[in-house]
Amino acid sequence: MADSNYPKCQKKIDPHFGTKAIHVGQNPDQWSFKDVVPPISLTTTYKQYGPNDHAGFEYSRCGNPTRKVLQNCIASLDAGKHCLTFASGLAATTAVVQLLQAGDHILCGDDMYGGTNRYFSKIASKFNVKFTMTDMTNDKNIAKLILPETKLVWMESPTNPCMRVVDLESISTIVHNIRKDIIVVVDNTFQTPYFQRPLELGADVVLYSLSKYMNGHSDVIMGALVVNDTELFDRLAYIQNCKYLHSYKLIRFDIML
Ligand SMILES: *Cc1c(COP(=O)(O)O)cnc(C)c1O
Repeated sequence: MADSNYPKCQKKIDPHFGTKAIHVGQNPDQWSFKDVVPPISLTTTYKQYGPNDHAGFEYSRCGNPTRKVLQNCIASLDAGKHCLTFASGLAATTAVVQLLQAGDHILCGDDMYGGTNRYFSKIASKFNVKFTMTDMTNDKNIAKLILPETKLVWMESPTNPCMRVVDLESISTIVHNIRKDIIVVVDNTFQTPYFQRPLELGADVVLYSLSKYMNGHSDVIMGALVVNDTELFDRLAYIQNCKYLHSYKLIRFDIML
């Protein structure tokens, strides 16, 4: 393919990537013993001096110091504001799809990770979430496939397993020109933020299976979401936690969800 036709992906590697990976979120001064390697917090529950009077963490489903380090670090690698980590990539996928309601529609690639494909077709479909699969390399097709009920556009690039390259920037622009509130999700598991930062290309949510290249050692199952929009982050955090996050406890999420 001629260079000018080649879809734009992140060609400029962040020169500070390595520094961010080993330092962001990891300032030793935040720990009482100044640990240079972030300690692993195994507790489920944190001491409270009175109801809601604690040192920043109450219960580990809502968050814990170790998870916070990882989330801050991943957000910075992706040039995003917020990150949430999950027990697997598929758990992150589930949380995103739970933004939808029965009758809503997802436009997604026709070559997607098998687990995502089966989650959409066998599980989300039971809740009457509809989806259309299309060849995302043909961005001319996209506009006519966006329905009034379309709430999510889901892409991978390169796709798994066929390794097709999708023009994330072009599709994000087309979709957001139709309706700004359609949430564009990019599963960036294959590229990692080292090679491609989808938020900079117009996506709203970056999804990772951290179990693959992000971990790199084949010894962790984990997932992550990275977003810039704080309202969207709040909605996803509420879905993850089923509870108001400590700092947002006065906001009525029921309305937003
Ligand atoms: C593995 C994978 C997932 C799912 O992640 P898990 O951590 O296995 O749940 C999602 N997307 C892609 C592209 C993957 O390769």
